[in-house]
Amino acid sequence: MKDLVNRLINLGVDLGTRNTLKKALSVLGEEPENVDRLYVEIKNMVYREKMKSFEPKDKILFLPHCLRKADKCKAKMTEEGYECAECNKDCKVGQIKKYAERKGYKVFIVPGGSMMFSIIRKYEPKGVIGVACMKELILAAENLEMPINGVELSKSGCINTDVDVDKVKSIL
Ligand code: SF4
Repeated sequence: MKDLVNRLINLGVDLGTRNTLKKALSVLGEEPENVDRLYVEIKNMVYREKMKSFEPKDKILFLPHCLRKADKCKAKMTEEGYECAECNKDCKVGQIKKYAERKGYKVFIVPGGSMMFSIIRKYEPKGVIGVACMKELILAAENLEMPINGVELSKSGCINTDVDVDKVKSIL
């Protein structure tokens, strides 16, 4: 990945713009279906050091509501997303939330992008970390004018999705 980023930088590519990146990646012979994933990975790489320089209290972690244990979840919906009741030790939302809050992060469990944007407007974090499907990660990466790191769900869908918890922990 580092080699690819260096080649893009040497080509003078604007890494913040998906369309420009898409064109550059095709010039470099990358498969079109890999472009979205590469775009998110490149953003992660570009912002990694900046994100590390911020205190956890100045960053927000967004988790997707579809990662809850849908049939048993005791979380209540509020204006700022679901309030996790930590009802199930096997639930990855509960596991990640507990870990992140212990470190000092603000954590929100949201149903989608529009609630995420209103929470960001209210709390004005310095950086944002998101766990989401590729479509939502792209939406955030293209529209948020701030450092962002993203982790893609390993299984997407509307309910009972999945993610690699260690991968999320590694960027917190
Ligand atoms: S741990 Fe939280 S998010 Fe997971 S099922 Fe229980 S209340 Fe819902």
